[in-house]
Amino acid sequence: MDVKKNGAVSFWYADMGGVPGYRAPLPGNTDVDVCIIGAGFTGLWTAYYLKQAQPSLSVAVLEKEFAGFGASGRNGG
Ligand SMILES: Cc1cc2nc3c(=O)[nH]c(=O)nc-3n(C[C@H](O)[C@H](O)[C@H](O)COP(=O)(O)OP(=O)(O)OC[C@H]3O[C@@H](n4cnc5c(N)ncnc54)[C@H](O)[C@@H]3O)c2cc1C
Repeated sequence: MDVKKNGAVSFWYADMGGVPGYRAPLPGNTDVDVCIIGAGFTGLWTAYYLKQAQPSLSVAVLEKEFAGFGASGRNGG
């Protein structure tokens, strides 16, 4: 299992056999309409509803670990 901090991997990821593979970092600068920092409930739902409200928006979610690394991955999963 690949996660070494924040109390190791959550029960929910452990139950799946670990964290899915990391995506490659951005190769460089990029232009988007909205940049969201953090892929927890707050960031992911913000991205979801922004796209619902205005599908033409380009939205980037930047996460320093993996989606659900923080509190969002440790309650109901
Ligand atoms: C054990 C537990 C049980 C809970 N039970 C409940 C419950 O029953 N009901 C309820 O309503 N709430 C509950 N909560 C609270 C709820 O889970 C949190 O309030 C909620 O998940 C917070 O979501 P968030 O997206 O704001 O933050 P987080 O889930 O913490 O997400 C923030 C993300 O941002 C990332 N990040 C941070 N800094 C950077 C950076 N500089 N660059 C890029 N990424 C960054 C982190 O890695 C993380 O993935 C519980 C929490 C815990 C821990």
